[in-house]
Amino acid sequence: MCDRGPLSILAAACYILPGLMRSFLRVSCCFGWFGVLAACGPSSGSQPAASASEQSAAAQAPAESASAAGNVIEATLESVGLDPLALDRSADPCSDFYQFACGKWIEQTPIPPDEPAWTRSFNEIRKRNEIELQRILEAAHAGHSTPGDTLQQDPGSQKIGVFYSACMDEGTVDAVGTKPIAGLLAKAAAVKDTKSLVAVTTELHALGIWPFFDVSPVQDPKDATRWIANLDQGGLGLPDRDYYLRDDEASTKLRATYLEHVQRMLVLAGLPEARAKTGALDVLKIETELAKVSKTRVERRDPKNMFNRLDRAQVEHAAPAFAWDGYFKKLGLSQLKELNVTAPKFFEGLQPVLASASPAAAQAYLEWQIVRSMARQLSKPFVDESFKLEQALTGQAENRPRWRRCVAATDGSLGDLLGQAYVSKNFAGESKKAAEDLVHAISAAFGSDLGHLAWMDEPTRAKASEKLAAMAYLIGYPEKWKTYDFEVDPKAHAKNILAARAFDLHRELAKVGKPVDREEWQMTPSTVNAYYDAQRNHMVFPAGILQPPFYDVKSSIPVNLGAVGLVVGHELTHGFDDEGSQYDAKGNLENWWAPEVGTRFKSKTTCVAEQYNGYEALPGLHLNGELTLGENIADMGGVKLAFEAYRELRKGAAEKVSAGGFNEDQQFFLAVGQAWCAKARPEYERLMVQVNPHSPPRFRVRGALANLPEFATAFSCPAGSAMLAKKTCSVW
Ligand SMILES: [Zn+2]
Repeated sequence: MCDRGPLSILAAACYILPGLMRSFLRVSCCFGWFGVLAACGPSSGSQPAASASEQSAAAQAPAESASAAGNVIEATLESVGLDPLALDRSADPCSDFYQFACGKWIEQTPIPPDEPAWTRSFNEIRKRNEIELQRILEAAHAGHSTPGDTLQQDPGSQKIGVFYSACMDEGTVDAVGTKPIAGLLAKAAAVKDTKSLVAVTTELHALGIWPFFDVSPVQDPKDATRWIANLDQGGLGLPDRDYYLRDDEASTKLRATYLEHVQRMLVLAGLPEARAKTGALDVLKIETELAKVSKTRVERRDPKNMFNRLDRAQVEHAAPAFAWDGYFKKLGLSQLKELNVTAPKFFEGLQPVLASASPAAAQAYLEWQIVRSMARQLSKPFVDESFKLEQALTGQAENRPRWRRCVAATDGSLGDLLGQAYVSKNFAGESKKAAEDLVHAISAAFGSDLGHLAWMDEPTRAKASEKLAAMAYLIGYPEKWKTYDFEVDPKAHAKNILAARAFDLHRELAKVGKPVDREEWQMTPSTVNAYYDAQRNHMVFPAGILQPPFYDVKSSIPVNLGAVGLVVGHELTHGFDDEGSQYDAKGNLENWWAPEVGTRFKSKTTCVAEQYNGYEALPGLHLNGELTLGENIADMGGVKLAFEAYRELRKGAAEKVSAGGFNEDQQFFLAVGQAWCAKARPEYERLMVQVNPHSPPRFRVRGALANLPEFATAFSCPAGSAMLAKKTCSVW
């Protein structure tokens, strides 16, 4: 499903979920529908413009500002970077601040038919970025194809132009039908025993198609300076193991939909109806067996669970039916002596699946894995059928137009070539400087907080400070651009995709045994996201996210800090969340905590898990406080740090600004809320609550602010307000 090969992060946390295609990767490439979580709360009816709460907010603000500085400048909300039209002034900010900040936006903003969810920040920025990427790609294509063109076009630009135009050439894609995968399907159809099943699986893995499991490089948990090979559970067609194992009505219904979908896909691949029907049942059976031995998402959040060093003999012992020597040789890993296995029990469970699958079942499973992996790159019937499953999972009404899918495919396959063109026009130096200043301000706030955290002892505090000092940040775009040494065919889109995947996989696996390049990026520059990688102890902020409403040179300090400052604080805190805190300053999985400090930390995180477990996203569907723990800790810490940094930056300012009647503290919190104005289709919300380690946006805002007493003070919320947690949780 993914246009690029596997990425190497086991220990990274990104700001929003980028995609769901490779189950263990927390930072991964995206094919389109990425996971900004949901907010679809009921909208209130239209209300008179100036309600009582608005008046009281307006009355409070200047008074507080004036007493602080004496001088208050009146400004509009727009001029500081806030959206007055998003506000629901009839809502009480102390009861439901999210509704107050975003209520009108939620009421008036439709979810586009080709989206499962929509946010005021991520999706709006992404829409602008996509249009810009489209413009770049069309210009690149035109530069290449104009007859007699004397324009000296650089090879990189030419390559992205050809790749994009081959993708856009729907007529050719439709005309060739299943031809691009016919050879692979024939091999799958010839499987007659375990040996040939393993041989075809090996061949597919070398192309970046992943039946049963997958392989990638990861940083050695004990020595973060070098790469080792990693085997991970996989082979499922639904987004998570729980989809196969839950018995609730929605899950049962979805499995029935899935079965029909697999059957129709197999028919499209050329199987007779009757064989497709039994084949679909075989696929579901095999995948259910794999699901049963797969780790849960919560289990996968603990790095100690994910790192299991096995030597070759141990891997062979776990699944002797698999011809490992031939496998490693084919993938260029012959020299491998030991490797990491994320889920040893999965590979033990794989053995009976491989050994007992009938030839017909093995064929159907491989045919299905080939088709599902490539369907989006094939003719219209495959694209439409592929979208039907996506629709069942997300509720999205329409597929994205072809140009958007082709922009995403080019970004996925030739991301650094496209990225160079993107940043040359869309990333002003001032954004880089501003982001650096923000990181420094927030890092300083964290350093100062560390100094007086009562639950920490001195030796652990010193280690934490050391980790903070060593934390690096990469802003905008990489220093070194990747190259793409494979041919692009102007008339063969699917072939280009396979070539890109195979090339990327080869590049990735060639890292095994080599030193880690700590400057390497795992997101393309136009990506609207950010991440912290615990094994490299660095934060990454692509140019794509440093755009309004996250960051605008024209916005005020409180507003920029509430929006992108929160992102920075969030990422920084990941170095110290329940996962990140298991890694030391160098990125090694090393316990640097005094035991009693670790116990106190654990009790603080339990408070957070319990609080978020209490939030109900859909009737009967509560958030998973354990799954979302790291992200919730980062949100809580992030907003606190951003607030402290903003206060520090504005300390001693000769004048305070009152915008639309809101003082600067209030503006900060409105920026936090408005960065997260969002809505989602219920199907998508259900999916996200099950698989996304981030809480839905409205709970990200409510949860983080309810734990920050400064919020209640800013809006004069009385004790007992919903926006002031009865038992406030605080970690960092
Ligand atoms: Zn995060």
